[in-house]
Amino acid sequence: MNQSNSNSGLRATRGAQRDVIAGGILFAAIILFVGTGGSVVSAVVRQLQGVGETDNLMVTALLLNIALIIFGWRRYRELMSEMGERIAAEDRANKLAVTDPLTGLANRRGVAEDAAELFMQARKSQRQLAFLMLDLDDFKRINDLYGHEAGDAVLSAISARMREVTPPEALLARLGGDEFGCVILYDADAPETVETMASNLVESIARPVVHEKNAFDITTSIGISSSKSGAESVEILMRRADIAMYAAKRLGKDRFAWFEPGMEDELHARNDVELAMRRGIPLGEFMPYFEPQIDLASGQLIGFEMLARWMHDGMLVEPDTFIAIAEDTSLIESLSLAIMEQAMIEARGWPDHISLSVNISPVQLRDPWMAQKIVKLLTETGFPARRLVVEITESSLFQNLELAQTIVTSMKNQGIRVALDDFGTGYSSLSHLRALPFDRIKIDKSFVLSMAESADSRAIVKAVVGLGDSLGLPVTAEGIEDADTAQRMREMGAEIGQGYHYSRPVGIEGARRLLGDYGMPIITDAQRETAALREDDERRAAG
Ligand code: C2E
Ligand code: CA
Ligand code: CA
Repeated sequence: MNQSNSNSGLRATRGAQRDVIAGGILFAAIILFVGTGGSVVSAVVRQLQGVGETDNLMVTALLLNIALIIFGWRRYRELMSEMGERIAAEDRANKLAVTDPLTGLANRRGVAEDAAELFMQARKSQRQLAFLMLDLDDFKRINDLYGHEAGDAVLSAISARMREVTPPEALLARLGGDEFGCVILYDADAPETVETMASNLVESIARPVVHEKNAFDITTSIGISSSKSGAESVEILMRRADIAMYAAKRLGKDRFAWFEPGMEDELHARNDVELAMRRGIPLGEFMPYFEPQIDLASGQLIGFEMLARWMHDGMLVEPDTFIAIAEDTSLIESLSLAIMEQAMIEARGWPDHISLSVNISPVQLRDPWMAQKIVKLLTETGFPARRLVVEITESSLFQNLELAQTIVTSMKNQGIRVALDDFGTGYSSLSHLRALPFDRIKIDKSFVLSMAESADSRAIVKAVVGLGDSLGLPVTAEGIEDADTAQRMREMGAEIGQGYHYSRPVGIEGARRLLGDYGMPIITDAQRETAALREDDERRAAG
C-alpha cells in the first residue's frame, strides 16, 4: 500500500515532466510562427489585395512554420502516448517486482518494503508489529506425487484461505516456495489477537484442499516474532520468525510458536556444530562403529550395521547430535562416504559371509548419482557388492519415490541388497513394500523396546513379521535388549536380531573381538598380502 502510494506520486511527477518536454516543442514552433509568420501572413494578405510584392523566402518560412506546428503537435501526441505506455509498463514491472504472480500476494521484496512502513507506524503509534512466517509441512510431497499443477492449485487455495481468516489490514505475502508471511500491527497488551489469528491460520489451512478429485491434507507451521522484543528492523523480525517457524516444526508441525531468545542460541549452537563438522570430516574425525546382527535361529553372527560416530575434542559424539545437521547442510554425503570407505576397508578382512549394512539418509536418495558413488567406493576398496546391505527409511521413499526406485534398482543390479529400515514408523508402508524390491525389512526398535508393556507394539511386531513372511522377506528386529525379547522375537518368526543384548555398537577393534568371540578369525590387510604373496610363490613354484 505504501508502494502504491509512492508509485502514484512518481507517476504524477513523471506526467508533469512529459507534458513540459512535449509541450515545449509545440510552444517553440508557435513562437517561431508568431515571430516570422506574422509578417509573412500580412505580406500574403497584402498580395491577395493586389498591394505589394510577396517575398518567396518568407512564404517558404511560413510553410515551414506551419509544418513545424503540425509536426510539433504530432510529436507532442506521440510523446504523450509513448510515455504513457512506458509509465504503464514501468508500473506493471514495479508491481510484478513486488507481487507473487501465482497467488497475487506480495512477494518477499514487496512485504519487506511494506512491513518497513508499518514498522515506522508501529513506533509512532505505540503499537507492535507481529511477523508470522508460515511454512507448509511436507508440501514437496504434493509436487512430487501429483505434479506442479496440483502444487500450484494448493498454494493458490491456501493464499485464499489466508485472506479469509486475516483482517483486511494484514499484509500477506508469499515469500517463496511453500513459505508465506503475514504482518500485522497489534496492541502490546493484547498478544492474544495475534495468537487467535495464528491458530485460525493453522486451522483453516489444515482443512483438505480439493483439486481435481484429489483432497490434499496440508498443514502449516508458523513462527511469530514481535517488534516488542526489541527487533530493530524488519530483517531481524523475519529472521526471528523463521527461527521460530523451525522450532514449531521440531515441536511436531501443524502449530505456531513465538520466537524466544533461546532459539537463537540453539541456531548458533547448530552453526558451531556445522563448522566443527566441516573441519572434522577431512581430518578423519568421523568413524564407523559396528553393531552385530545375529541369526536368531542359530545364534550366529551374520553381519554388522555400521553406525556413524564422531570423535571430537576427545569425546565420542552420537549420531543424534550430528546427522540431522549434516542432512540440513548437505554435509551428509561426504560424511557418509568417508565412514563407508573406512568400514569397507575394514570389512573386507572379515569372513566372506559377514555382511555390512549401511544407513543412507533421505537426502542422499535425492541424488541421482548415489548408486554410482557407492559402486565407485566398492571398486576402490575392493569390498564385494553382494556383502553390502543399504538401509533406507520409509520417509526417504516418500520424498521422491521414482528417483528412489531408480537408485535402488541400479544398486540391486550391482548385487547390493536393500533393507527397509524403521519399518512401521512411516506413512503408507504396504505400498512402499510393493513399489521397491527390498531384500529385508527392519522393524523399528521403538516397537521391540515397548513390546513387554504394550499390546499394541506386540500386535504391530506380529503383523510386520507376518507381512515379511507372506512377501518372502526376512525380518530384522532391532532394539533387542534382553534374552526374553530375543526368545519372543525368535518365536514370532523374526530371522535376524540386533540390540544391546548382543552388544552395544563398537569400534573397529571391538568388531574384530566380537568376530573372534563368535569363532571367526579375521584376516587383516597384512595377512591378506602375505597370503597373496604366498599364493604367488606357490603358483610360481608349481610352474
Ligand atoms: P538406526 O538406523 O535405527 O540405528 C539403530 C540405533 O539404535 C543405533 O543408534 C543403535 O545404537 C541403537 N540401538 C541398537 N540397539 C539398541 C537397543 O537394544 N536399545 C536401544 N535403546 N537402542 C539400540 P545410533 O547409533 O545412535 O544411531 C541412531 C540413528 O542415527 C540410526 O538409527 C540412524 O538412523 C542414524 N545413523 C547412524 N549412523 C548413520 C549413518 O552413517 N548415516 C545415516 N544417514 N544415518 C545414520
Ligand atoms: Ca538402520
Ligand atoms: Ca531403526
